[in-house]
Parts: sequence; C-alpha cells; structure tokens
Amino acid sequence: MSALTVAVIGSGPAGLYTAEALIKQGAAIDPPVEIHVDVIDRLPTPYGLVRYGVAPDHKSIKSIAEYLRGVLEHDGVRFVGAVHLGDEVTRDDLLSCYDAVVYATGAMRDRRLGIGGEDLPGSYAATDFVNWYCGHPDVDPDRFMLDAESVAVIGVGNVAVDVARILIREPSELRDTDVSQPVLEALMTSKVREVHMIGRRGPAQAKFTTKELRELGELEGVEVVVGSGEADLSAFDESGESERLAADNRLVRGNYKVISDWAARSGTGAGAGRRLTVRFWLSPVEIQGESRVEGLTVERTRLDASGRLVGTGQHETVPVQMVLRSVGYQSVPLPGVPFDDRSHTVPNADGRVLDSSGQPLPGEYVAGWLKRGPTGVIGTNKSDAAQTVRALLADLAGGPGPDDAPLPRAGLLRLPGAGAGAGAGAGAGADTSSDVAWSAPFNELLAARGVKPVGYDDWLKIETAEKELASSLGRGARVKLASRADIHAACGLIKP
Ligand code: NAP
Repeated sequence: MSALTVAVIGSGPAGLYTAEALIKQGAAIDPPVEIHVDVIDRLPTPYGLVRYGVAPDHKSIKSIAEYLRGVLEHDGVRFVGAVHLGDEVTRDDLLSCYDAVVYATGAMRDRRLGIGGEDLPGSYAATDFVNWYCGHPDVDPDRFMLDAESVAVIGVGNVAVDVARILIREPSELRDTDVSQPVLEALMTSKVREVHMIGRRGPAQAKFTTKELRELGELEGVEVVVGSGEADLSAFDESGESERLAADNRLVRGNYKVISDWAARSGTGAGAGRRLTVRFWLSPVEIQGESRVEGLTVERTRLDASGRLVGTGQHETVPVQMVLRSVGYQSVPLPGVPFDDRSHTVPNADGRVLDSSGQPLPGEYVAGWLKRGPTGVIGTNKSDAAQTVRALLADLAGGPGPDDAPLPRAGLLRLPGAGAGAGAGAGAGADTSSDVAWSAPFNELLAARGVKPVGYDDWLKIETAEKELASSLGRGARVKLASRADIHAACGLIKP
C-alpha cells in the first residue's frame, strides 16, 4: 500500500502539531493509513513562533522546540525550508503534488490602531520589536537603538507583558539566553527607565494570564506601579461587568489579585531604578511629535450602564519617546486561498477550507491562528491541529475507492494509491540531500525552478553554528545568528 502525502505549510507549533497528529491518527484509524508529511516553511529555520515569538527569557516555553524536534525527526516527516508559498510555489503546485494541503502559517502581521502619529519614527508594532529581540531574519539587528527613556506599550495582553518585561528587566540577565549578540548589546546600552503599559479597559478585562503578569512584579530593580484609582473595579464601570468577572472567572480573579497587590504597594519602591507603570481605562487618541515620538495622548474611558466602552472626553498626554503598539496579530492571506477579510482567517469548518459558497474545497485544510485567529497559548494548537486532522482523515475514510472518479463530494480525499493528481508512491526524486521518494513530484517541481530547499540536516548546521557562537562568546547553550546572511551562510543557502 502506498502512503497518503500531505503538505503542511508552516513549521510553527500549528504546523508541527498537525504533522504529529497526521502520523499518530493515521496509524490509529482502522485500517491504518501511512502518511508522509512535508512541512514546508518560507524560512530556513523551523519552529515558527516558538523560535521567533516566545521571549528569550521564557526558557520553559522555548523548550517546546525540543518536543517539536521529535516530530521533525519522525521517519514520516520531512522539513522543506526556504520555500515560500506565493513566491517559489503556488497553491495549484501544492494541490497537484500532494494528496492534501494543510495551511498553518499563523498570524504574522500587526493590527493597526488607526490614530494620528502611528507612523512617526519611534512608533513601532510590538510584532516588530518581538521579531527583533527574537532574531527574526526579516528584521535588521540594528533596528532598535533604545535611546528612549520612557516607553508606552499599548495593550494589556501577553505580548504587551513580554515586550514590557524585555524593555524593563536588567539586560545582563539575558546573557545566558539565545538572544543575538547585537540585540543583547542594544539592550545593555538601553536608556529605557520607565515603561507605561496601557489598557483601554480595566484590570478585569485585560487579556494577560496570571503567571506572565506576576513575573513582572518579580523583576530585580523594577518598581511596579498601578495608575491611581485604576485598580478599583467599580470606579470606571457602571455596568458591574468588572465585579462580575472578578467573582466568576478564575483567570480574572488571579490577575486582579496581582494588580491590587501592586496598587496597594504603589509608591513604596523608591530607588528601584526602573519603573513599570500599569494603566487602565485609557484609550490611545494620538501619538504626538514633530519628527519623532514625544508623547502619547490618551482618553479616559469607562463602561456605561449597558456595558459599552465610551470615552469621557478627559485627555492626558503621557511623555514617552517610543510607542509599541501591542494590540494583537493578524493573519495574512495566502495567494489563491480563501480568506475572510473581517476575521482575518481562512473560512473553515473544523479545519476544512470553505469556498465562497461555504462548500469544502477538496484536499485543503487549515490549522492554528490562520484557522481560529490569534488566541490561546502554544498548547492550544495541539487540540486545534488534532481537530483538523480528524476532519482530514474522516474525509479519507469516507472517500472513494481507487477506481472511483470523480470525487463524490467536495472535501473528500482520495484513498492512498488512488492515482491521478496524487504524489503517492512516485518514483525517484530530485537530487537534494533531504530528498525522499514520496515527495518526488514536489522535488522535481522545485528542481525545475532552480529552488534548493533547506532540509533538516541543513537546519542542524544552523543549530551547530549557534552553539559554537555561544561557546565563543562565553554565553549559554546557544546564541542566535545575528542576521539573515549569517543564517544563510551557516546552512549553505544561496538566496537574494
Ligand atoms: P491579545 O491577548 O488579544 O491582547 C491584545 C490587547 O490589545 C488587548 O488588551 C486589547 O484590548 C488591546 N487592544 C486591541 N485593540 C486596541 C485598540 N484599538 N486600542 C487599545 N488597545 C487595544 O493579543 P496579544 O497580546 O498579541 O497575544 C496574542 C496571543 O498570544 C494571546 O492568545 C496570548 O495569550 C498569546 N501569547 C502568549 C504568551 C505566553 O503564554 N507567555 C506570550 C505572548 C503571547 P481589548 O481587550 O479592549 O480589545
């Protein structure tokens, strides 16, 4: 029996949990189905947001990469790096080379605020700053100079907590992390002494999780202050929603305990050196400045009796020289793949991609943030991927026999070995070190276009270079290579 071949687009948590679910669920169904997975990524490095989104000082979350490594090293899985859907290959290419395609490209773009001054020098998307300190090859290692003394972080989610912590914590504590050397040096010479983290609603509506929030209060040499009166659950809320949430919701209760403890201690940390001020009920109105950021004007908000967030007309300008907009991520459309411009997700039913009439498209699936929006922690992607794979295998189980054609309904997959259009069981592949027979049609297509993918062995060379760099610098277990050119040199990738 030949195997079902699946292309998973994106090697972040969503993509790799999908690959794992394909292998495991395929083996568990009756009769078992052997599945071969190509995990295709535009970058030469795997692990997506685990590598380029999780903060360097969150080592336990970063260790998820060790688990995901096991997926990449499975016999049924191949890493195909440095191949970009929309650039080197198209959706039609993928559909013609594989039995099924699962899109798992996450959410890479920042959301905009739509206020004046957003594009002033000194105003950045938090996603940019995160990419910078995580050493993402798309971001110049010299992008952030950190010559501001006071920074506003807009938003009160976990990304805001991450960027506030990296900005305000003692930088020498990052020496043993994998943060690249130019980023460490920029942080070491940072002039930042105060960070204002600003929520447009109250402590009960904030999106951060308690563990991440609590960590801010444990930073050496950092005083945490809460805006005067802003920890009071009823002061700016006529609807009673905040009190209700604090009573009924465990997460809110946990967050509120941390915030009210900070509020009780506010003003007692004189001499701490650096300060984090957490503000609530303030909506950004305008980023001020002539040629660069000089302040952030915010309007006091409240919830009216019906629970609607309204402005009070009362304004204040926080003097800051840098603004980080941390108001959520958005997915970007993939060329040729259906996309909902309002939700910024691929329309789907349990992971089956739907066309404009709501019908499932044969052989196309979606997983992760691209499927459900940018919510949840990394582990959320495991159950999400499992749901998508269940749908994929259900389509297979109910699908046609080898000689049945055409497919009786959209969304069904051909059984392995059914022939036409499938990459299953194809012959000898192209001449690449990471070549495997099941990917022959895709290998041939890439070779014909002069595209040489980065395989898993090539990625291991990048890992080795990172370990050698750490050792030469006397820093930790590994240090990220500083630039795209360094990464390409380490894995032998020749690309503009
Ligand atoms: P998020 O949790 O959705 O938080 C976005 C924040 O931006 C909210 O406070 C939101 O306020 C605010 N916001 C949105 N539009 C705004 C506007 N126009 N003006 C002012 N504020 C605005 O997004 P995120 O922080 O980017 O996190 C994304 C996901 O990654 C989350 O699921 C998060 O938990 C996860 N993550 C987890 C970790 C971790 O586990 N350590 C680390 C980083 C990220 P409203 O609620 O009022 O809209």
